[in-house]
Amino acid sequence: MSRDLVNPIQDLFDAAVRHHTIKVSCGCGNVGIFDPHALWWHFERKGWNDKLSAVRKRMRCLQCYVGKRKRTLAALELTSEAHTRQLPMPDIIEWKRQLRRRR
Ligand SMILES: [Zn+2]
Repeated sequence: MSRDLVNPIQDLFDAAVRHHTIKVSCGCGNVGIFDPHALWWHFERKGWNDKLSAVRKRMRCLQCYVGKRKRTLAALELTSEAHTRQLPMPDIIEWKRQLRRRR
């Protein structure tokens, strides 16, 4: 059995440790794939909950926002596809500090 089934990924940090990218899809067809380290760092700096269920509620579709369409809840999945959205990568010292703290 794969390790993901035994110990499912709950948050962005887990996803980053296991090198899964985060794919977010909106009902309008807009899809973004994020590097997990960068997305985790984005949430960490803002002090947001990085649980995947909370992340899903935070994600806003820019196309729907600009088009002033009613916002639909995005779908969030873990993939191994290459990321398409560029966010700043975490500070390496901070990343290592968190790795030590969580293990
Ligand atoms: Zn949209």
